[in-house]
Amino acid sequence: MDGFNPDLISVGSANNFIAGCRVQGRGEGIVVRRPSDGRVQVELDCADAGQLAEAVENAQAAYNKSGWAQTDPRGRMKVLRRWADLIDADAATLAPLEALGSTRTIGEINGWDLSYTAETVRFFAEWADKIGGEVAATTPDKLGLTIAEPYGVVAAIAPWNLPLVMSAWKIAPAIAAGNSVVLKPSEMTPFSIVRLAELAIEAGLPAGVFNIVQGDGRSVGDPLVRRAEVAKVTFTGSTRTGAAIMAACAETGPKPVTLELGGKSPQIVFADAGLDKAAALVARAITLNAGQVCVAGSRLLVQEKVADQVIDRVLAAFAAHKAGPTWRMDTTLGPIISEGQLDRMDGIVKRAIAEGAEVLAGGGRATSPQEGSYFAPTLLRNVEQKSEVVQGEIFGPVLTVQTFSDEEEAYALANDSDYGLAAGVHTGDVARALRATRSLEAGTVWVNRYGRSNDFILPTGGYKQSGIGKDLGREAYVANLKMKTALIEF
Ligand code: NAD
Repeated sequence: MDGFNPDLISVGSANNFIAGCRVQGRGEGIVVRRPSDGRVQVELDCADAGQLAEAVENAQAAYNKSGWAQTDPRGRMKVLRRWADLIDADAATLAPLEALGSTRTIGEINGWDLSYTAETVRFFAEWADKIGGEVAATTPDKLGLTIAEPYGVVAAIAPWNLPLVMSAWKIAPAIAAGNSVVLKPSEMTPFSIVRLAELAIEAGLPAGVFNIVQGDGRSVGDPLVRRAEVAKVTFTGSTRTGAAIMAACAETGPKPVTLELGGKSPQIVFADAGLDKAAALVARAITLNAGQVCVAGSRLLVQEKVADQVIDRVLAAFAAHKAGPTWRMDTTLGPIISEGQLDRMDGIVKRAIAEGAEVLAGGGRATSPQEGSYFAPTLLRNVEQKSEVVQGEIFGPVLTVQTFSDEEEAYALANDSDYGLAAGVHTGDVARALRATRSLEAGTVWVNRYGRSNDFILPTGGYKQSGIGKDLGREAYVANLKMKTALIEF
């Protein structure tokens, strides 16, 4: 597998997608930079208010008239299966588009993101004919039942950190369930998703069932959520934006809303764990996508007696990373999405150091063969539990380390957070693994592993300020359906 020459890739010009076609936006342009070297990629043509209205009205019309919601579920299933196959077959086009515009390396995209996107579509395709309803105990003159129906127009709002995968988690269950979708991708990563929409049309999805409007949150995201035609909203992004979207849904509905939000996930290493494996997982969980992952394991909690051994191993793993642009195959640590984001994390680290944190690794920019926004894998010791660096989501490769003496203290430190997205536990004791799983306030607990598998049936979502509702699993499909109760007397 080779890297690619970024200067040979065209991101296209018309990047909105309305009624089955690429459409040139008429709204204000947004300068989109390549995260790998900060060069201006293109001025993104955002949708104006008229085009936003057009997209939503088209989605509504497609819902009412295209027959998508009324299509035999197995018909919907076949279209989604074809779509997944086309995504697999289109890797040569999709992968560079995704790598050029995002922080994901070409190796990661070809090795995981694209197949995971296709598999997400395939997984939800299979649900299209699986959810029926309940039938009440009947008498000869009465039939009581529930009927699952799609909502209509679903507004989906996606973040920049895994553009295709995060969008697929939203759009695949909504479309499989018979809804129409208007998606607003992040204004920082707008390109690859339009190609995905073209493939949907090629697969047989009726025009208007999947639309894309480009722009920022203020001029496109917020007005989209507030449109009267929008019956449900599904969002992935920061906790702050999620709260604003929930308020907008309350003011203009109330409308049901699914929120997948931020995290500050602990990694707990007990002395009885396999330390090589545990340390490798700890290091990987904070350097994957340069820490720009919602479930980044950003707080290492290690039992005192093995702390030095674990820290040494994590430091060795950090030192082996090679920062570089997303288009090189030897890059293991990609860029930070923007200079602004890098400055923000640099500020948090500097303030922690001023408060007495000890820098065991990193602490600032990483050197890279390419000029750009790269941050070195950073390990900080002597941090206060209540400090910004321990409590706040950094969204970069910054790991704090704290020690504990017993289980109770480990769980208390782990749970002392407003977030509750995920947690990692490393132990050789099965009973402790079970106790930890029950004690940790997190939507996902991984024991002796960290990160997703291909078990799409397992839902993902946060406790506390990390979210409401789930992506993936049966739950994500059902969340795109409303239930009608019917009672029929003869
Ligand atoms: P963000 O909240 O800044 O933006 C997310 C999206 O919301 C973007 O498309 C943005 O344009 C849009 N937006 C902003 N303001 C809006 C508004 N008022 N109304 C409607 N839309 C608006 O988040 P981000 O920086 O793109 O992504 C990083 C965040 O996403 C992190 O906090 C991360 O933890 C979180 N995230 C969570 C999950 C999860 O599954 N829980 C997954 C990935 C990322």
